[in-house]
Amino acid sequence: MLYRRFPARILIAVVIATTFVTVPFSGLAQQASPVAPNRAQVEAVVKEAYDKFRSDTSGKNADYIPFLAQVDSKMFGVAVVSTDNQVFSMGEIKYAFSIQSISKVYTLALAMEELGAARVFDRIGSEPTGRPFNSVPAVVDMTTHTGNPYVNAGAIATTSLIAGKDANEKWNKILDFYSKAAGEKLTLIDEVYKSEAATNAGNKALSMLLAKYERIYAEPFESVDIYTKQCSVGVNVVQLARMGATLANNGKNPASGEQVIKPENVPYILSSMMMAGLYDGSGGWAWKVGLPAKSGVGGGIVAVVPGKGAIAVFSPRLDEAGNSVKAQRVIEYVANKLDFNLFSPRSVGLKGE
Ligand code: GLN
Repeated sequence: MLYRRFPARILIAVVIATTFVTVPFSGLAQQASPVAPNRAQVEAVVKEAYDKFRSDTSGKNADYIPFLAQVDSKMFGVAVVSTDNQVFSMGEIKYAFSIQSISKVYTLALAMEELGAARVFDRIGSEPTGRPFNSVPAVVDMTTHTGNPYVNAGAIATTSLIAGKDANEKWNKILDFYSKAAGEKLTLIDEVYKSEAATNAGNKALSMLLAKYERIYAEPFESVDIYTKQCSVGVNVVQLARMGATLANNGKNPASGEQVIKPENVPYILSSMMMAGLYDGSGGWAWKVGLPAKSGVGGGIVAVVPGKGAIAVFSPRLDEAGNSVKAQRVIEYVANKLDFNLFSPRSVGLKGE
């Protein structure tokens, strides 16, 4: 009998030993998620993806905002931030690109901090439109008349929910909130703001349409102006990944330790990202990648892996829907290799045969 039990003990010892050998780097990330990959695995896969896609030139810069048309389309940066604030980055990590529509996630979060999720849901809704992000027919046809917080109409309506004694106070609150999510002071890129403000007749029209349906909650053009500023906030790819990691870490910034977003609001934010984060590319994205993500026409995409961390990619060339081509490919590759897809039982460690 004894000889039978003995090997079992050795086996347990070996299993424990190999566990420590293969996952030496992670602390908190693995407390939050015991199946988080270790740093060496993440580094290897991100490097593979970086090399595989670095010379991909598909897509083209956004040009409806003149400033974005002349951004160097060859720039390419990748960053991963884990929930225990380990940072891994490659390529262009210093350049501050405009956050554009990724801002919508954090204005939604701020609106929920102030009003609670139920009231925000009531005023904005959360239905995918299946239409381009700036669609006018979507606003007319849908019963919510906003769609969701990530198409322009819903986003402008969400910005209009932020309280303040004047436009300046509202804007500063928004910028401070983004900075807390990033763990660093963020600033406006004035040239982007001016370029977009001079060409945003479409967004002004959307704001008047929202007014017609009583779906905007402050003066329409003031709300568009604040919205235009929020889209013109500059972030580098590491700051963007940390903003995503704040969501992955249940609303607590992994660098500063500050609880920026109430934990109970995080699932609302992530589910809305899953449904509409890549606009009319969201269905294909969910099918292939299975991670909540948000894109911006500045070329950034951030994808959140709950409990584990976030991956952000910056590359200005976009597809038809306005999503960075290279960013989608890199994140898809990394998510598949590291079993991040939330719809796969492998994401919680069930490997199967
Ligand atoms: N500021 C841009 C706009 O309003 C944001 C769009 C985007 O990133 N998809 O058109």
